[in-house]
Amino acid sequence: MSRLDRARCAALDAEDPLAALREEFTLPEGVVYLDGNSLGALPKATPDRIAELIEREWGEDLVTSWNKHGWIDMPRRVGDKIARLIGAGPGEVVVADSTSVNLFKVLAAALSLNPGRKVILSERENFPTDLYMAQGLIGLLGERHGLRLVEGEAIAGAIDRETAVVMLTHVNYRSGAMHDLAAVTAAAQAQGALMLWDLAHSAGAVPVDLGAAGADFAVGCGYKFLNGGPGAPAFVWVAPRHQERFQQPLSGWLGHAEPFAFAPSYRPAPGIGRYVCGTPPVLSLAALEAGVDRLLGVAPAALREKSLRLGETFIAAVEQEAAGLGLSLLSPRAGERRGSQASFRHAEGWPVMQALIARGVIGDFRAPDILRFGFAPLYTRFVDAWDAAAALAEILKTGAWDRPEFHRRLPVT
Ligand SMILES: *Cc1c(COP(=O)(O)O)cnc(C)c1O
Repeated sequence: MSRLDRARCAALDAEDPLAALREEFTLPEGVVYLDGNSLGALPKATPDRIAELIEREWGEDLVTSWNKHGWIDMPRRVGDKIARLIGAGPGEVVVADSTSVNLFKVLAAALSLNPGRKVILSERENFPTDLYMAQGLIGLLGERHGLRLVEGEAIAGAIDRETAVVMLTHVNYRSGAMHDLAAVTAAAQAQGALMLWDLAHSAGAVPVDLGAAGADFAVGCGYKFLNGGPGAPAFVWVAPRHQERFQQPLSGWLGHAEPFAFAPSYRPAPGIGRYVCGTPPVLSLAALEAGVDRLLGVAPAALREKSLRLGETFIAAVEQEAAGLGLSLLSPRAGERRGSQASFRHAEGWPVMQALIARGVIGDFRAPDILRFGFAPLYTRFVDAWDAAAALAEILKTGAWDRPEFHRRLPVT
């Protein structure tokens, strides 16, 4: 790439076919927001929708809203919308609980459906909650299973006839490295293993086709690229061929075939409905629906194209402006192996990120030394990529990061 500057990035924005979508989000003036992979931005439609739900539905129609305003259908209705983003069909996805909890449900299903095998295979660098949930489930099942962890590149070669399930996050939260979803699924199934994908950093950012890949299970997050708001509920997908073969263990009343029969014994709902546990978080579901609606009209290929170009522009700008200042690229350079983020390592990563945030450039830090920048293609501009790279270079050149307040650790990184 020839020399970049801010004017060239502004020209990329002027040509960007998705540029107008930024208008659908509230973003504070003067802030460069590159953390939509941790908490997506606020859609302008969300506050009105939440206010209407609170004032008119809850305030006036009270409990009758479960029927009158379809609250009871929300886990499936929003699930059907998310299904369109991940290559799943209608009636195959529900929104419920958190990603961690949904992972527990489908992992339990996978182990039960592959009873002769005792190994859960995953990646050492997987997001820790996924590994922790597997460890908890193994304990509950009497320590008869093992969690085997290998490096990301070694996954396909590590699948064998003992592997019950391969449990992977499609896009790695630290490095942004992306697995080949179809190829790994095929490798798992060729050995008789089941394939479980965590799409936390994929849904809403990179094209996913679970159906074409023939995967078995998937979970994903509502508050990252789906823009569902802090603590938004998560989604869970089970291939239709498995849905009725297993009754997930969190057998709450709203996953019952007839919750309002109030029978003393559990009988699972047909299909994906059994993956709901308790009462849906209606306010949060409404916010998630408003976020997902922003994505439905956008061609996944156009989103991907923009996200890749944003990442590429940022990497090139950082390497041009901050050469020799102690940064090294952690993310794969090749676009086809990278999700919608770019990460760099720096020995002083924590104070450097705090100094960036103090200037209004919001990315985040992941231990031990990673500066992470997410590129949500719905609302991030090419000038944002430029401004973030320029600010990073200046902070490193001037040593502006080395102030006591930037060294102080905060509870959430
Ligand atoms: C963000 C994320 C989660 C979040 O799980 P919660 O239960 O919502 O806290 C899980 N897995 C991965 C891979 C994530 O990136």
